Amino acid sequence: NLSDKLDRAFKVLKGQGTITEINVAETMKEIRKALLDADVNYKTAKAFTDDVRQKAIGQNVLTSISPGQLLTKVMNDELTELMGGTTSEINFTGPLTIILIAGLNGAGKTTFSGKLANFLKTQKNKKPLLVAGDVYRPAAIDQLEVLGGQIGIPVYANRESTDPIAIAREGVALAKQQGNNVVIIDTAGRLAIDEAMMVEIEQVKAAVNPNEILFVVDAMTGQDAVNTAKVFNDRLDFTGAVLTKLDGDTRGGAALSIKSVVNKPIKFIGTGEKMEALDVFHPDRMASRILGMGDVVSLVERAQQQFDEKEAAELQKKIRKNKFDFNDFYSQIQQIKKMGNMKDLMGMIPGVGKMMKDVEVGDDAFKNIEAIIQSMTPHEKENPDAINQSRRNRIAKGSGTNITEVNRLIKQFEDMRKVMKQMSNPAAMANMMRRMP
Ligand code: GDP
Ligand code: MG
Repeated sequence: NLSDKLDRAFKVLKGQGTITEINVAETMKEIRKALLDADVNYKTAKAFTDDVRQKAIGQNVLTSISPGQLLTKVMNDELTELMGGTTSEINFTGPLTIILIAGLNGAGKTTFSGKLANFLKTQKNKKPLLVAGDVYRPAAIDQLEVLGGQIGIPVYANRESTDPIAIAREGVALAKQQGNNVVIIDTAGRLAIDEAMMVEIEQVKAAVNPNEILFVVDAMTGQDAVNTAKVFNDRLDFTGAVLTKLDGDTRGGAALSIKSVVNKPIKFIGTGEKMEALDVFHPDRMASRILGMGDVVSLVERAQQQFDEKEAAELQKKIRKNKFDFNDFYSQIQQIKKMGNMKDLMGMIPGVGKMMKDVEVGDDAFKNIEAIIQSMTPHEKENPDAINQSRRNRIAKGSGTNITEVNRLIKQFEDMRKVMKQMSNPAAMANMMRRMP
């Protein structure tokens, strides 16, 4: 997967203090390949890597993070920007907002129509009317009516008619009459791009003059999604795209390509078959998803904000020499307290998240940890390996905790030391990431 490939790519950066022309070129080649595999189209991938190369070269690598992590951050920012930077929602204008839904068969139009109606009702306090514009299959009308029933949204259908243009008009008229402020018109798709379908949807558009035309596309169709988007955009000039079926392990590269090829915002993503499985599209989250690095990016961000570079450098040295001791641990806790919720932060470090979950670390938990460390002698703090059973008993008593807690902290400390040692070595870091889910 992409994550593996990025890891391999990052290996090239091993041991470099700054990102240079040479090490970045090789990495970018790998990344371009990886992006192509994640359904990003060639032009987009090329433009992207060229851009990232420009931005990455010369960046100082913070001692607390690896070049790979920094590069991930640069890429993440760039991807986010490419996908529009910010979220983009429905534009409500006037007393009635008309939304036309377009796309191929099976893309998820009908499901999305229901989800959107539900979203606008529950999150935006709107009164939507759904219009069943797929006249070719009676089952399509049934499907929309069932969904409407589930979410408590009225559905306009006309089973006598085979004229989607007339039905769309009737739906809009009914909405006005009933005092709905949103009309969502579901339409018929085809298995593939087809002239009759395009003409029909153009006619529906001309008849109702929608405020929004949302193009729905199945993210799992990869490159095809981009081609389809282009054709629909040329014909309809849609206002936004909806990517469905992102609940699978699709990487979401289609999001980047669609945005860059048709230059229209992606407004929503579908993440399941249920009516609640709809999310507003967040470019930053999708960027992380495409990169497959998840929270590493946030970790880098916070590290950049908070870590004192010199202090981090010293710490790094200690970690590398395996001299990280309880004094450092204690001062790390103070650092972390400054940074906010420890669980959040630690959860972002690969391998540490799971460990922390077991321990249930709240801010309160620091009290005991601090008490335990304070009950250690200077010698014990500097030589964690020397803390034997009788010392543990003494520490437990002295700190007003118990032996289980002391054992747990020492175990935790040892685990952490291992993880940190690995993280200080880019090759091991890459290795660790490969083992991440
Ligand atoms: P339409 O032909 O474009 O109207 O597509 P439908 O709305 O009928 O959806 C086709 C199939 O895809 C149905 O089985 C839906 O339940 C399913 N589907 C739609 N959106 C999603 C999604 O976001 N995730 C998943 N897993 N399935 C979806
Ligand atoms: Mg349908």
